[in-house]
Amino acid sequence: MKKNTFVLSKRLQALPPYLFLELDKAKRKARSEGRDIIDLGIGDPDEPTPDYIIRALYKAALEPVNHRYALDQGMLIFRQAISKWYKSRFNVTLESDTEILPLIGSKEGIAHFPLAFINPGDYSLVPDPSYPPYKGGTIFAEGKIHLMPLLEQNDFLIDLKAIPAGVLKKAKVIYINYPNNPTGAVCDINFYKELVKFARKNKIIVVCDLAYSEMSYDGFKPPSFFEVEGAKEVGIEFHSLSKTCNMTGWRIGWACGNKNLVAALAKVKSNIDSGIFSALQVAAVAALEGSAVQTKRMSQVYQERRDCLVDGLNSLGWKVKKPKATFYIWSKLPKKISSIDFSRELLAKADIVATPGVGFGKYGEGYIRFALTVPKERIKEAIKRLKKI
Ligand SMILES: *Cc1c(COP(=O)(O)O)cnc(C)c1O
Repeated sequence: MKKNTFVLSKRLQALPPYLFLELDKAKRKARSEGRDIIDLGIGDPDEPTPDYIIRALYKAALEPVNHRYALDQGMLIFRQAISKWYKSRFNVTLESDTEILPLIGSKEGIAHFPLAFINPGDYSLVPDPSYPPYKGGTIFAEGKIHLMPLLEQNDFLIDLKAIPAGVLKKAKVIYINYPNNPTGAVCDINFYKELVKFARKNKIIVVCDLAYSEMSYDGFKPPSFFEVEGAKEVGIEFHSLSKTCNMTGWRIGWACGNKNLVAALAKVKSNIDSGIFSALQVAAVAALEGSAVQTKRMSQVYQERRDCLVDGLNSLGWKVKKPKATFYIWSKLPKKISSIDFSRELLAKADIVATPGVGFGKYGEGYIRFALTVPKERIKEAIKRLKKI
């Protein structure tokens, strides 16, 4: 075959290699060999999207008015439904005309956002370990990344005081994600209060990713950044129906908050996409209206799975705490080994897939992430297998 002569842009070359690719290949191979794999790898709900949402999509898809280009800004009924949901959930008012922007899943918004504010050489402050698009989006905008380690001794909260003054001067954006993927950590309203002060003082835009705001346990309700007075002056929040309503494949979410930040993201996007299928937006309205019931039901399911996995691991001598939110168990490795080697071993000896911590960044080394995306019986089976090895 002819050698590939297409030279990748520096931007693309600068992206870190996709560490999960190898594990994914190994998983496929094992499955094709007929092995009974328990997949605790990807954070993708295993239960189907609720029927009432599918029916709403079907009905809306029959309507010709929904077949044309949707407005970039998203449908008014969807923005109004978001505003209503937000008010009832966080007691915060959002203007549906200026403070809300529907997205094709929150990932694209998160990844596109730096294009609106980062100039080459500006810094993004990014937690590590973290969801990959915070880094990827910054690199696409030719920004620099300053890693903020999430350490167990700090309950995986960001230590704002540890950021060097020289970096702060050149920093434009700080990424925040609680409830957190991959650590399962949560923050309280006091953390957000500190963050508002920090952002004002240093003139830094706060980007909060609340993908897991509705996945919590033991009566804990994750707060929103905008519950803090003055937060709207400095920040934008990203929300998603993916995890809440088992809708990862549908691609629907939204950004909300400061109207100038929202408008800037809308401007970027209006040059890239042409809106979200209107029928999907109508279905998303139905999803939001039913989300309280859905959330409650799924939280019970995940809480049982969480207890089953954590109790099981601890019975084998691991030392794992129960997270208050998300469907991830972030555990220190039970022995001295790299996280990649450990996940290889899990697959080879126990037919279990879990994600090596280092895949989320260098401060994730020494950890492994289990996603609670299989039924309880399968988690019990996984524990049985772990006992044998
Ligand atoms: C799953 C996830 C999202 C949601 O992504 P969508 O694009 O809305 O599906 C956002 N942030 C984090 C941290 C996630 O884990």
